[in-house]
Amino acid sequence: MISKTELVAETLPVREDRCAEEGWRGELSRAVSDPEELLTMLGLPRELLPAATAAARRFPLRVPRGFVARMRRGDPNDPLLLQVLPLGRELEEVAGFVGDPVGDLSAAAAPGLLHKYQGRALLIVAGGCAVNCRYCFRREFPYADHPLTGAAQRQALRYLAADPTLSEVILSGGDPLLWGDGRLAALAEELARIPHLRRLRVHTRLPIVLPERVDDRLLGWLTGTRLQPVMVVHANHPREIDGAVAARLRRLREAGVTVLNQAVLLAGINNSAAVLGELSEVLFAAGVLPYYLHLLDRVRGAAHFEVEKARAARIVGEMATQLPGYLVPKLVREEAGQNAKVPVELQVSA
Ligand SMILES: *Cc1c(COP(=O)(O)O)cnc(C)c1O
Ligand code: SF4
Repeated sequence: MISKTELVAETLPVREDRCAEEGWRGELSRAVSDPEELLTMLGLPRELLPAATAAARRFPLRVPRGFVARMRRGDPNDPLLLQVLPLGRELEEVAGFVGDPVGDLSAAAAPGLLHKYQGRALLIVAGGCAVNCRYCFRREFPYADHPLTGAAQRQALRYLAADPTLSEVILSGGDPLLWGDGRLAALAEELARIPHLRRLRVHTRLPIVLPERVDDRLLGWLTGTRLQPVMVVHANHPREIDGAVAARLRRLREAGVTVLNQAVLLAGINNSAAVLGELSEVLFAAGVLPYYLHLLDRVRGAAHFEVEKARAARIVGEMATQLPGYLVPKLVREEAGQNAKVPVELQVSA
């Protein structure tokens, strides 16, 4: 852990720090965004291209190269590929699948700040993501209308300071770790000055898709204030956790960060007790506990990923008969207007 003075010094443009940052930023800027390039890299048939190009026009393709390297070549059904490859099916209109399925827009308490649940407020600190997940409930979220910059950040901090019932702030997005560490360190310091806040939580997929992002600078601000640090990462399939990812997850834990995982239950990707059980095992080996397993939010373009609720209840019920309780994620669904993520009752067979 580094001291606050060192943190301030760190935000100065020291040459080697800049290089470290350019490391993950470089990876980010080299992310694959051209469907044709992705198909070529993986040796996949060109017949997939017209649909991919059409679907990418609505929600662009974006995937870091390190994540592509974990996909199986020549397999159009690879569970990592299916999370990022634009498909023609996304363009089908399906009843009940809409633009803002979780009611985010109506919950904005200030620009860039969602306060839906008691005691916790969520800051949308960065609009974009390192990866565009095809099932994302924010695929149509108008990030640009909710930026947390300058005046908006001051307004959000005033809101947080004025509500003593808040004990936790969640940095979310988009992906909050797309911000540089200097900016995040300054924000963490400001939050630590609000006396009723106790915890700083970060919701991010970067440690999974771009593990280089977890470095000493990040650990510096995350563990460098009086706020207790929690990180919730997002992996859906055990093959997302390779050696490099596991090593960075362990570093977070060794630095004193409580690390949890949330996953989305996705047809054709992780809809079995075997795959999800293996995910829990590899995460735990890296020091991460499963937290939530979300039923798909019914966002337009994602209908083909849906696993029906009764099936989900059986899958997680089966996990409960095979694993220690702490390796069974909480199966939940998000319902607009509810005060918590709504638990789904498991179906455990004898
Ligand atoms: C999911 C969510 C949270 C966090 O909920 P937990 O149950 O504490 O993980 C907070 N705010 C918003 C708006 C959310 O969507
Ligand atoms: S990382 Fe999360 S917010 Fe970003 S596209 Fe994927 S699911 Fe959506």
